[in-house]
Amino acid sequence: MKKEKAIVVFSGGQDSTTCLFWALKRFEEVIAVTFDYNQRHKAEIDCAINITQELGIVHHILDMQLLNQLAPNALTRVDIDVTDGEEGELPSTFVPGRNLLFLSFAGVVASQVGAKHIITGVCETDFSGYPDCKDIFIKSLNVTLNLAMDNQFIIHTPLMWINKAETWKLADELGALDFVRTKTLTCYNGIIAEGCGECPACKLRKRGYDDYIKTKVR
Ligand SMILES: [Zn+2]
Repeated sequence: MKKEKAIVVFSGGQDSTTCLFWALKRFEEVIAVTFDYNQRHKAEIDCAINITQELGIVHHILDMQLLNQLAPNALTRVDIDVTDGEEGELPSTFVPGRNLLFLSFAGVVASQVGAKHIITGVCETDFSGYPDCKDIFIKSLNVTLNLAMDNQFIIHTPLMWINKAETWKLADELGALDFVRTKTLTCYNGIIAEGCGECPACKLRKRGYDDYIKTKVR
């Protein structure tokens, strides 16, 4: 195991929790960083707190409420409230470049606590579509953070090239399949574990799980 410190960008969802276990296997000291930026996020924050407490991990929650000010609707229509999206949609608070901001702040935290490694659960394989979740961007940002902070960070993306079924497989290999299945939150409606079963996030999660279990019993 590397005797080095690592920061995990952690939301309390399936992907970042799998990354947390991935990091715990590899690094002596792991610190979780969660970004707090909207109402609906509250359930996710609680979930993230519970997971880090159970695993005994130092957990920093950064206030990113300013993201709500930058949300398209808040900028373009001052007369409407910033609300969560309809069922199954992205919240209206979605901000372009969000991951750029999050990873940059994670870099600042890493610099402050003396962590060399930054782990993020971004993925090009399943849908994301966000340019700042792509491998080329992560590589570019890695160079930028190193130059900006005169550091030698290494950004790890264990999920970049795997699909949801393979993410479940990775969790299983890390001995965390049941933990991830029962204690993480990915549902757009804020329901833990299997979630509402109806929203796109729940459907994607379930399809991946079923696909993995099928290959497992074969
Ligand atoms: Zn759901």
